[in-house]
Amino acid sequence: MTPSAASPSACPPRLVFTDLDGSLLDHHSYDWEPARPWLARLKAEGVPVIPVTSKTRSEILPLRRELGLEDAPFIAENGALAGLPLAWSHARLDRGPGPDGLAIRTLGVDIGLIRQRLAVWRERLGVRFTTMSEMSLEALVDFTGLAEPQARLARLREGSEPLIWEEGDEPLAAFCEGLEGDGLRLVRGGRFWHVTGDCHKGSAVAWLIERFEALRGHRPRTLALGDGPNDIAMLEVVDQAVVIRGCHDLEVSPDQASLYRSLATGPDGWVEGMEHWWGRDERRPSSVEEGRPPTEPGPREDGVPA
Ligand SMILES: [Mg+2]
Repeated sequence: MTPSAASPSACPPRLVFTDLDGSLLDHHSYDWEPARPWLARLKAEGVPVIPVTSKTRSEILPLRRELGLEDAPFIAENGALAGLPLAWSHARLDRGPGPDGLAIRTLGVDIGLIRQRLAVWRERLGVRFTTMSEMSLEALVDFTGLAEPQARLARLREGSEPLIWEEGDEPLAAFCEGLEGDGLRLVRGGRFWHVTGDCHKGSAVAWLIERFEALRGHRPRTLALGDGPNDIAMLEVVDQAVVIRGCHDLEVSPDQASLYRSLATGPDGWVEGMEHWWGRDERRPSSVEEGRPPTEPGPREDGVPA
């Protein structure tokens, strides 16, 4: 499953970009079993499934092994960095691969700068928030439901800092404005707010699509799936998108004409979205788009994808 892997010559190469928590992985149990048949099918068809997540590089590495996505790149920390397998890296533009065979590309700013500016704004505005690095391991386990080893990996940040906001909306606006003046962004995820450099899931996905085109010489057909407000930018830069029903009340309304909203949550919603766009005959995807109103949930086909 590399950019040079064969896909049917009659249709363009395809890429799937997916959020993890609350999308491919269940929000509560982190289970992904319902998506297994679709992941196997996409792998067999040579379609890379690219995780695009707020998770850290250290969290993603074991997960992509478990999910069988080791040949695909990944985007970590809400677009702050990309991990590129050899087939996706560029001899001239990327640093050589590390011991894990991945070239890591920083797309945002260093975590040290983020933490320094957070300390400045906390004091200047007198606002209360708790960053993930300030939480005890026990508190992080309680808050996220992660097992302790995974919670340790979640704390190994390189380009973004998650935080729990403990104030109302008004100080939040001032906080956001202050960070923007520093070239930083504040985006909302399922559990945390995330502070990153001037990058987001959308800019990272657009960068990766360009990289694919530069290496392959073809514009790929792209599909993205996500459940949170931090997925909106990603859902807007692809050809087709799925908003997976969230386990939250946050609005997720991307500016995207080819949009499907799932009825189910988590990996069941993920499968529903894949079925909607590519579940019939993806060699004629335009018939799927034309055959159904873009935002109306379609019929659910259970079981192994056709
Ligand atoms: Mg999510």
